Amino acid sequence: MQPIQIAVVPVTPFEQNCSLLWCTTTMKGVVIDPGGDLDKIRSAIAETGITVDKILLTHGHVDHAAGAAELAETLGVKVEGPGEADQFIMDDIPAMAAKYGIPNARAVTPDRYLSEGETVSVGDLTLDILHVPGHTPGHLVFVHKGVGIAIVGDTLFRGSVGRTDFPYGDPDLLIAGIVGKLLPLGDNVVCLPGHGPVTSIGDEKAHNPFLPR
Ligand SMILES: [Zn+2]
Repeated sequence: MQPIQIAVVPVTPFEQNCSLLWCTTTMKGVVIDPGGDLDKIRSAIAETGITVDKILLTHGHVDHAAGAAELAETLGVKVEGPGEADQFIMDDIPAMAAKYGIPNARAVTPDRYLSEGETVSVGDLTLDILHVPGHTPGHLVFVHKGVGIAIVGDTLFRGSVGRTDFPYGDPDLLIAGIVGKLLPLGDNVVCLPGHGPVTSIGDEKAHNPFLPR
């Protein structure tokens, strides 16, 4: 069995699925997409007993990234991801937070931008990185192949896909990325989206009305 465990903490008025992912051998973990509600995230970290090693971001949207700078500072860890193409969105976090009523939001500049083909290590675990743009230009998906789980952010949802009605959105690119990179991961791969319930590649292949078949 792979030494991996995940806990989901819904944060912000958008009920964004911030997740803690950790290696049960070393008890080292990452916080993925701390968009806000840092008290809830800190309680979850304390409950699990993990040592947070780093913060990962799937993409730069306010509900995913607005708490990253403060959490990184207080935990003394680095922020890795998303792709560099999302920096202009992360620069705009304070304005978006004011618009949507997300308190204590800060712009963030990651310590390391991530690209497809690179990996991120968490204790004894290794996560692969896929670039799936369209919702945002620098959107990443984190995959643990051994256990078959993908942290898909706002690319693919149960029965839906990420919105692309932003000036920088690209619906064709998003569908091409899902079809070309996520579906081939295999039917049994569990997908943890940025909002809503978990799903699987097989379920979305069979039922998602936004995907070509
Ligand atoms: Zn988003």
